[in-house]
Amino acid sequence: MKTVTLLTVITATLIASGGTRPSFAGRLRVVATTPDLAALARAIGGDAVDVKALAKPTEDPHYVDAKPSHIVTLNRADVLIEGGAELELGWLPPLLESARNERIAAGAPGRIVASQGIRMLDVPATFDRSKGDLHALGNPHFLLDPLNVKIIVTQIADHFAQVDPQAADLFAANLNRFLAALDVKLAEWQEQLAPFRGAKVVTYHKDFVYLAQRFQLQVLETLEPKPGIAPSPAHLAKVISIMRAADARVILVQPYQNRRTAETVARQTNAVVLDIAQQPGALKGTDTYFELMDYMIRTLVTAFQETK
Ligand SMILES: [Zn+2]
Repeated sequence: MKTVTLLTVITATLIASGGTRPSFAGRLRVVATTPDLAALARAIGGDAVDVKALAKPTEDPHYVDAKPSHIVTLNRADVLIEGGAELELGWLPPLLESARNERIAAGAPGRIVASQGIRMLDVPATFDRSKGDLHALGNPHFLLDPLNVKIIVTQIADHFAQVDPQAADLFAANLNRFLAALDVKLAEWQEQLAPFRGAKVVTYHKDFVYLAQRFQLQVLETLEPKPGIAPSPAHLAKVISIMRAADARVILVQPYQNRRTAETVARQTNAVVLDIAQQPGALKGTDTYFELMDYMIRTLVTAFQETK
């Protein structure tokens, strides 16, 4: 309730001060909902953009703490990049409503929805939101597949050029450089993981399916019985027996997930718990997309070697 009151005050202040500015001058003000999208925006925008992420690298993108400062940031934005597919459903819509910024309204050149153009995995046949279930439109954690990243950076460059045509050449050059670098790195990552084709991992949330598909790994089970539903003892017992039967000995957790639950399962399955992150900056030395993926692949390779 306290937050709501604060949001109302900020909204009133924005309206009183004129709120939106008529057009941007200088650097494009870009807001990304999550740090992974922000890192891609920086790579494409270079010096022509000023990028902010709303979620912290260590925050669960499904449950971001909405703050009044987010409304101010959104109110001043020239471009908003969101993951889409309901990733931010729980927190972004009220912020946007309070921010009252037409430049980033749905359908405007200043609004980028990353999920557009992505072939979604895990699209549910039936769905019950009342149970707290997430991923109604399919799995929104698609940025861990480098080929999806290609689609998204292309979309970002296109929108940036529409909003700031004067910098279009810069965006195009940055895009080409990024895509070329990604091709080189993807081949490298595939080569590193090739000896572990079919290797089984267990994740806390269903957030590694795109990475698994691209690199031919298998997400055997998740500690959550369904995306967004907390692990129950009965479900964990089932996971433990499945892991034992399949000799799966690698569990992946992100910073905002319950590591202790993973450790409990690991003790009973002789598994290792790997600290991994989808968000650049969540772990040391992972500020860019490439650094993050390098870290991830290296960590997985080491774990697969150790548990072989
Ligand atoms: Zn999710």
